[in-house]
Amino acid sequence: MTKYYVLFGPPGAGKGTQATAMVEKYNLHHISTGALLRKEIASGSPLGMKAKELIENGCLVPDEVVEGMIESEFRTVKGVDGFLLDGFPRTLAQAEALDRLLAKTGESVTATVSIMIPDEMIMERIKGRALKEGRADDASEDIINNRISTYHKQTEPLIEYYRNAGKYHEVDGTGNIDEVREGVFSVMKLF
Ligand code: ADP
Repeated sequence: MTKYYVLFGPPGAGKGTQATAMVEKYNLHHISTGALLRKEIASGSPLGMKAKELIENGCLVPDEVVEGMIESEFRTVKGVDGFLLDGFPRTLAQAEALDRLLAKTGESVTATVSIMIPDEMIMERIKGRALKEGRADDASEDIINNRISTYHKQTEPLIEYYRNAGKYHEVDGTGNIDEVREGVFSVMKLF
């Protein structure tokens, strides 16, 4: 049966870094909605132009946009043991849409792996990443603060949602990359 893992956590928690190790070890297809949106922006598509402004203000893009991206990845990618959703769902509506989409084929989310770090560490990590990757939404403290507050308001309620479904597994994200990877793998091996 196809596995559907949700990789959860605040911005800067290290989801992208851990995703690389996870997809390799478990033969998963990595879907990062942030990366897909940055690709749209780079291509200059109409969708990308709309997304750019929202992203660069630390806001979320509309649910339907990312839901469509997820659906199309599920439909087109074959030959993997499962999918690793990174940065999706980010709102309750997206989580419900994901459940409905999977239910159409009698499937459901396998597990949520949540990498948790405190707010103080978010700022520090993102500023470090900005030097290496040059992402526009990493460029100023104001934008980062907006993303932190967007996370608390719109995304954090998902913890309760997945906890109620018995699918929430939290990993301490404050250690080094190897330590966090150990924590992540100790959850993955349960499924
Ligand atoms: P980070 O994990 O550092 O926040 P991402 O690359 O996951 O970075 O996302 C970058 C930005 O892309 C988000 O701040 C948001 O504007 C947009 N985005 C990504 N995923 C979603 C989503 N599921 N719903 C709405 N907007 C999204």
